[in-house]
Amino acid sequence: MRNYYIAGNWKMHMTRSEAAELARTLVAQLKDGEHKYLVAPSFTLIETVAPIVKGSNIGLGAQNMAAEPQGAHTGEVSVLQLKDLGVDTVILGHSERRHVYKEDDALVNAKVKLALQHGFEVILCVGELLEEREAGRAEAVCEGQVVKGLEGVSDLSRVVIAYEPVWAIGTGKTATPEDADAIHAYIRKVIEKTYGAGAAEKIVIQYGGSVKPENAAQLMAKENIDGALVGGAALKADSFVPIAKFGR
Ligand code: PEP
Repeated sequence: MRNYYIAGNWKMHMTRSEAAELARTLVAQLKDGEHKYLVAPSFTLIETVAPIVKGSNIGLGAQNMAAEPQGAHTGEVSVLQLKDLGVDTVILGHSERRHVYKEDDALVNAKVKLALQHGFEVILCVGELLEEREAGRAEAVCEGQVVKGLEGVSDLSRVVIAYEPVWAIGTGKTATPEDADAIHAYIRKVIEKTYGAGAAEKIVIQYGGSVKPENAAQLMAKENIDGALVGGAALKADSFVPIAKFGR
């Protein structure tokens, strides 16, 4: 039995006082929440949010990290620095990193391995572009990103996959629950091929792409959808809390 996992990606939003207020509200309103939760603020907000979520049922994530543990990497943030702030999870391979900042599968894979070596949980994002979906390549694209992103990783116990069709991120267009579930099922098969049926059954696969209070329950009702990675709707407690407590 997999636990639902709802994560909020705050992207490049909020000042410290806004982030503190949102984090405090979430801690209060989700304290009776039944699922697993995470917030991933910008690097500059992590130190503010860390003591607020500490000891609560909300984990602390980062939205990216460097592929090297330290060194001459101007503008990058290292796994050691994130650990020092109390971060336990890192989102890697987000479509904005892949498509805007041109991170390829090899770079994402290096980051995944480094994060796991340092004891982090990883949310590995995968997903196809609209033209790839229209060309019938959605499954192949996701398979490639999963396989290459996890190359050299033998233990998936700290790996979560987020299926985020790029055309559904921040656009208001959501994949239908059926379409999303079909890709989630395919990803589970891909995992089964390399890691076996037990790992495939256990791995949590979140859906991301315009998740809102209005569509969360239908998505989550699908057999292979184990949670959500939420962008826009994670910026306000009024929209994140109903998603986090979907079905209640
Ligand atoms: C995301 O950025 O991971 C995301 C899913 O964004 P949104 O919910 O705004 O589509």
